[in-house]
Amino acid sequence: MLLYLHIPFCDSKCSYCAFNSYVDKFGQREAYMNALHTQLFHELDRFEVSVDNPIETVFIGGGTPSTVDPKLYAPLFATIAPFLAPDAEITSEANPNSATAHWLEGMFALGVNRISFGVQSFEDTKLKTLGRAHNTAHAIDAIRTAHAIGFKHLSCDLIYGVIGDTQESLLADVTMAFSLPIDHISLYALTIEENTLFETKPQMSQEQLELTQWLFSEIESRGFTQYEISNFGKTPSLHNMGYWQHKDYMGVGAGAVGFLKNTRFYPSTDVDCYSASPLEIHTESLQANALLSEKLFLGFRSCVGVEASILTPTQAKTAQWLCEEKLLHYTKGRYHNPNFLLADEIALRVEGY
Ligand code: SF4
Repeated sequence: MLLYLHIPFCDSKCSYCAFNSYVDKFGQREAYMNALHTQLFHELDRFEVSVDNPIETVFIGGGTPSTVDPKLYAPLFATIAPFLAPDAEITSEANPNSATAHWLEGMFALGVNRISFGVQSFEDTKLKTLGRAHNTAHAIDAIRTAHAIGFKHLSCDLIYGVIGDTQESLLADVTMAFSLPIDHISLYALTIEENTLFETKPQMSQEQLELTQWLFSEIESRGFTQYEISNFGKTPSLHNMGYWQHKDYMGVGAGAVGFLKNTRFYPSTDVDCYSASPLEIHTESLQANALLSEKLFLGFRSCVGVEASILTPTQAKTAQWLCEEKLLHYTKGRYHNPNFLLADEIALRVEGY
């Protein structure tokens, strides 16, 4: 069982970001955190969480979780404490400018054992281009401070495919990342989304296949295994692995999504509506073919792969043919994709498109 908590507040809006985040709602933090607590109780009940059905991973994402003081998280942690698996992975995202020593120490004391920093680049010009609120020095300081405090696992997000990226500049980012005490990198290609500052500047995104392949191999050559199209590490994020393995997850917060068996749960995305009525949750039943399609797309994008027994006879034939073409591998009842950059194409092929 996984638990996701969404914090929709940010210090400023990055130019490429279409996430559900607000820069002008800080006055509502307490009301929002109380609403989270109300929904959390409801979900613990709905998902029948107990010592025998414990929470294996917690992920606090956003938005920017480091914009909320640890003391406002304390009641949530007190509520989940009896249901946490003994070795639960507890991650919080954080931005380098707001992840102060005070914030990091407070989250560590609550039991967070993994921090995922929104670094994006170690080059100030690129950070400005992306509209980030921090600079390189903030990022380096925050990672070192987190390590000194004792966090077991540290990750940093990097963005590539940005106008001006060169092999040299990306190498500088990777080299700096590996000089820091991290065990994981999430690597995202810049995409242009609707309702962002970059919407009218599509030229900001400049993904080049050769550079992407080079970047992947550069990170792998330094000892981080690519276990999903955007994720590399010595230790994988168990929470993300859980999504790709199609485990049940509670989604708590404005714009979070929950999943139980074949049903999705959608609380309101609007912070005001959510704070007023956190239990107004829309549900969606997923048909068997939609679930199968998701398993194909998530499985072929990651080391999870796809269980052969879920495929129809026609799909199994296609998968077998892809094995002969060396585009898939078959081991222990599962098909695995050795080249994540081809994941969507392979999933569509197997699905029958
Ligand atoms: S900090 Fe993250 S969530 Fe907030 S605006 Fe920037 S990219 Fe979006």
